[in-house]
Amino acid sequence: MSKLACTCGNIIRDQTDSLPHKASIIKDQQEENFIQDLAQEMNSLLIAAKAGNLEAHLDNRYGNTPWRPKAAEACYDIIGSALLNSSIMAYECQSCGKLWVQKAVNSFVPFNPESGVHEAVLSVNPAPN
Ligand SMILES: [Zn+2]
Repeated sequence: MSKLACTCGNIIRDQTDSLPHKASIIKDQQEENFIQDLAQEMNSLLIAAKAGNLEAHLDNRYGNTPWRPKAAEACYDIIGSALLNSSIMAYECQSCGKLWVQKAVNSFVPFNPESGVHEAVLSVNPAPN
């Protein structure tokens, strides 16, 4: 999603990283699979590294191409992909505080805060009570 039109008229934009009005949500029913899949991927990397086969492991996973990621980049890719595959998005309107939670691809359900104002609940610095 790059833009979401809030019912208050504000346009919620998602065009960069580290947004204070965006969050990834991992549903409790998916959390265990997310952790297990990630642990399995990391364990495979550790086993390959311990056996001295890390480069071959990465070649096997990504193909032996000039743009194949290095180990650190592969970890970032694996974690990022797992998060993307296991999470839904939520956006908070910075004008009215409405929380938009993803229900399906390009489909969001709005929730109004009891306070009726922007609480910055998705920011690392939420508004004080
Ligand atoms: Zn709004």
